[in-house]
Amino acid sequence: MTRSQALLNQIKGDNLMTDSRQRILTGDRPTGKLHLGHYVGSLKNRVELQNKYDTFLIIADVQALTTNFESPEQLSQDVRQVARDYLAAGIDPEKATIFVQSMVPEIAELTVFFSMIVTVNQLRHNPTIKAESEQYGYKEMTYGFLGYPISQAADISFCKANLVPVGEDQIPHIEQTRKIVRKFNNMYDQVFPEPEALISDFPRLMGLDGKAKMSKSLNNAIYLSDTEKEVNQKIMQAKTDPARIHKDDPGHPEVCTVFHYHQAFNTDESDEIEADCRAGRIGCVACKKRLGKKLNLFLDPMRERRIKYIENPALIDEILMRGTEKARKVAGETLSQVRAAMKLDYFSA
Ligand code: ATP
Ligand code: MG
Repeated sequence: MTRSQALLNQIKGDNLMTDSRQRILTGDRPTGKLHLGHYVGSLKNRVELQNKYDTFLIIADVQALTTNFESPEQLSQDVRQVARDYLAAGIDPEKATIFVQSMVPEIAELTVFFSMIVTVNQLRHNPTIKAESEQYGYKEMTYGFLGYPISQAADISFCKANLVPVGEDQIPHIEQTRKIVRKFNNMYDQVFPEPEALISDFPRLMGLDGKAKMSKSLNNAIYLSDTEKEVNQKIMQAKTDPARIHKDDPGHPEVCTVFHYHQAFNTDESDEIEADCRAGRIGCVACKKRLGKKLNLFLDPMRERRIKYIENPALIDEILMRGTEKARKVAGETLSQVRAAMKLDYFSA
């Protein structure tokens, strides 16, 4: 068991006295609809943890610009889409603070201060940057993209987050954040806690094609906002065990995307389905139908919660403005401490 899994088990158990002042920061880039991969990868944890921790959810529109800078007009729609998906998934705006990154300028300010203590080489070794540079080189890479791990460190630190529930691909970024705050605290003053990553039980949900993880850009996703009909259609097209031709052929659930989804969303029945599949007792169509039913049952409450926000879009804006105001207040307090620690508070008495 990894350190993070142990932490997660401990938090979910009742045996830990949770400190309500402990803070969580996590969020998403507004680049479109959220899907089941986002849900199992991190949203699920957030919905549970909002009851025990002071939860901050960032809609990272500035970070979205690192790759989408040519089409900013899409952002205003996508910011609201992500907020709607959060609320539909069960994020409670009375418990969690949902806010928009670009509307908290102190985060940009902190990014600049942090950028003084991070070397270019550290950034070049970040796995996302490295993968991008190996594929395309540095010629076209923007300064904003190269520096986005610093901006993420500022997202986490402006509100002094202790825990960051994220997918496993984000671990290097949390490590980078820990390094930055450690250096800051040692060099100037103890301002920031060192955040811990919290990785979910299901850190990588496969896409419907069975080839890669579920992802918007690969067109292999089931979205939280899909209708019952869309879900059923998508599942009917999902990749199953290619060795199964007749419905009584013995199956190999370990290579079947549909079984993978049973494990994630139909845990109660997945053992039985696995045994029936291996013995050739259940055909793929029947198996898919059972999954469709389960997934739609799972998505129904989200669909219900969503209606209110579709009918009254001003509610979303209100929640975002309220959350952003709160985030700004917290950010202002942290930045005063940062300026004092860095001896940049020239005119304060
Ligand atoms: P894009 O196609 O634009 O890359 P995406 O659908 O892959 O979009 P990301 O924006 O890359 O989504 O994902 C944001 C975060 O959500 C990831 O860093 C990861 O933590 C989590 N996540 C995304 N897809 C999955 C998945 N299939 N399984 C588990 N977690 C996921
Ligand atoms: Mg992706």
